[in-house]
Amino acid sequence: MLSHSEMAPEMEVSMPIARWLLSLAMAGAGCLISLSAQAQTAKAALKDASGKEVGQAQLLQTPHGVLIKLSLKGAAPGEHAFHIHAVGKCEPPFTSAGGHFNPASHKHGMGAADGPHAGDMPNLHVPASGELMIEIANPMISLAKGQPNSVFDADGSAMIIHAGADDYKTDPTGNAGDRIACGVIVE
Ligand code: ZN
Repeated sequence: MLSHSEMAPEMEVSMPIARWLLSLAMAGAGCLISLSAQAQTAKAALKDASGKEVGQAQLLQTPHGVLIKLSLKGAAPGEHAFHIHAVGKCEPPFTSAGGHFNPASHKHGMGAADGPHAGDMPNLHVPASGELMIEIANPMISLAKGQPNSVFDADGSAMIIHAGADDYKTDPTGNAGDRIACGVIVE
């Protein structure tokens, strides 16, 4: 550590610069705060029942809902239902994640007159390679805490891939079969 007497001459010279740097830093911090308020993000790592990671999702809040970028690797080929579930808990066989995220108390499926659940999304078509990159817009959910449709509610939320396809109408599950992968949505 330098003593006060050793630091003093240097301090005198550098104080205006220090003040300028400080104001610059404060302006920068202001920018960062407003940026993070606008560009809220979240993510989820999807794992199968054995604990192997089969995909990752990145979520971006937009003024019109949430954009989900889903990247799968080593996923089971075929047509699979993909939902957001009501509880952020992924313990195999993933019933721990509860039913579909449904804060508005709708019926299941875009094929239902009084549907869909906020967590309902189109089926995934995984090719034989098991690799899939897809972007899905979900205008019914939010990453903003305190909103009635926020995935960050008291018990959190999870993303789930099912063994079968969603028929878009069978309430409350879409008749999509077992839950084969699950990922808790985290900030
Ligand atoms: Zn549903």
